[in-house]
Amino acid sequence: MKYRTFRIGGVHPAEQKLAKDAAIEQFPIPAKVAISMAQHLGAPATPVVEKGDKVKVGQVIGTPTGFVSGFVHSSVSGTVTAVEPRADLAGNMVMHVCIDVEGDEYADGIVTSDRIERDIKGSPEILLEKIKKAGVVGMGGATFPTHIKLAPPKDKKAEYLIINAAECEPYVTADDRLMREHPHEIVLGARIMARVLGVEMVVIAVEENKPEAFDALSDATLRYVGIDVVKMKKKYPQGGEKQLIDAITHRRVPSGGLPIETGCVVQNVATSYAVYQAVQKDKPLIERVMTVTGECLPEQKNYLVRIGTPISAILDSVGGLPMESAKVISGGPMMGKAVANLEATTQKGSSCLLVLTPEQTARTPETVCIRCGRCTQACPMGLEPWLMNRLGRNGDYAALEENKIYDCIECGCCQSTCPAHIPLLDIVRTSKAEVMKIIRSRAKK
Ligand code: SF4
Ligand code: SF4
Repeated sequence: MKYRTFRIGGVHPAEQKLAKDAAIEQFPIPAKVAISMAQHLGAPATPVVEKGDKVKVGQVIGTPTGFVSGFVHSSVSGTVTAVEPRADLAGNMVMHVCIDVEGDEYADGIVTSDRIERDIKGSPEILLEKIKKAGVVGMGGATFPTHIKLAPPKDKKAEYLIINAAECEPYVTADDRLMREHPHEIVLGARIMARVLGVEMVVIAVEENKPEAFDALSDATLRYVGIDVVKMKKKYPQGGEKQLIDAITHRRVPSGGLPIETGCVVQNVATSYAVYQAVQKDKPLIERVMTVTGECLPEQKNYLVRIGTPISAILDSVGGLPMESAKVISGGPMMGKAVANLEATTQKGSSCLLVLTPEQTARTPETVCIRCGRCTQACPMGLEPWLMNRLGRNGDYAALEENKIYDCIECGCCQSTCPAHIPLLDIVRTSKAEVMKIIRSRAKK
C-alpha cells in the first residue's frame, strides 16, 4: 500500500514511542489546582469568580475576552483561594484561578457516564454554540479556539474536514492511546464538526506507525458514509496543518494564507474527542490525556489529567525527577518548550511531559555553515533556513519578511539536519517573533 505524505521536505527522527503500550490511567485529583486564564491562542479569559467562591466541576470560571478567546471551566469542585498572576509553564506571569479541592461534585447537566451517545441532535448553530461554551480548543498544541475554526468567513466554503491523527512528534503517545481506547467518540466528534461545517468529506489521517489506532478507527467508521481513515507515511512533520492538507488533497495553503483558502479545516483527534464530550455529554474541556515519558523515568504513562494539575505532582507519581535528568519539556522534543517552572500546572494544550538527560540535551558546539543545503531540503515550507540564520543574526528584518519567515511553522527540521550544529530553529523562531511584531504594528497603523 502506498501511504500518503506531503511533498516538500521533512525528516525521520527516531520515534521513541516509549509509552505506546501504557493504557490511559485517571491521574488522581490533586489537593490544589491553579487554572490559567491563558490556555488558548488569543486574549486570555476574564476570571468571573472571586476568592472564597465555591465552584463545581465544569463551572465557568473565565469568560472570553474578545473574538479570539475562550471559556475556561473549573476542573475540580472546591473553594477558590486566589485569583492572581502566577508563572505558567514557560515562566510567563498570567492570571490563574487557584482552587482547594473538596470532593468531586459536577455542575448540573454534565453527563459523566461512559455510554456512547450516537444520536447527534441540534442544528449546526446549536452544536457550534455548545462547542464554544465548552471551551474547546485545538489540542494538538496550537490551542486555537475550535468554534472559530468551525465558523469560516461567509465567502469561504469548507469542503474537507481533516482529522489530524498523525501524532508525528517523537515520544508523544496521548493521541495514539485515545484513538485505541475511544475511537467511537472520536468519530462522533468528527461527525459533529462535519455537520457544523456542512462538509460531506471527512478524512482521518493516521500515521503508519499506529496500526492499532488505524484498525480501531476503521471499525468505528464502518457504519458511516463520508468518513475515510487513511494511512500516512511516517515522516515529520506529517501532523502539520499545511502538510496534512497537501498530503490529503494536493492543495497548497498560499504563503501567509489560512487552510480554509484551500477548502480544508483541520482538527486534532483529541479536539474531536473533546467536541464529542461537549455536545453529547454537555461536558466542558476540564481534562486531557497527557503522556509522561523519557528514558530516565522508571515508568512510562498516559494519564487523563485534570487541567490545572501541578507538573510536580505528575512527576512525583513516576518517582520524581531522576538525578540524571537535565530538562523537562512540555510537548515533544521537536516543537515542545522547556518547562521553566515545575510548580506550573497543566493546560488544555499539554500533550506530553518529556524528561531528558544531559546527554540528550547536550549541544555540540556550532561551527560555520558549509552551504550543504540540507536545511533547505528538510524544510517542509520551502524556506531557506541558512539564509534566515544569516539575516536573523544581522537583524535584517525587512529581508527576513521578503524571504517569508512568517511561513515558518517552527518544526525544527532544519536544525535537526544541520551538520554544523547551528541552532537554526532558535534563531528562526526569535527572528520570526520580531518580524511578526513589525507586521502587526504596521497593520494597526
Ligand atoms: S523551523 Fe521553519 S525554517 Fe526550519 S525547517 Fe521548520 S519551517 Fe523550515
Ligand atoms: S544545514 Fe547547516 S551547514 Fe548546511 S546549509 Fe544549512 S545551515 Fe549551512
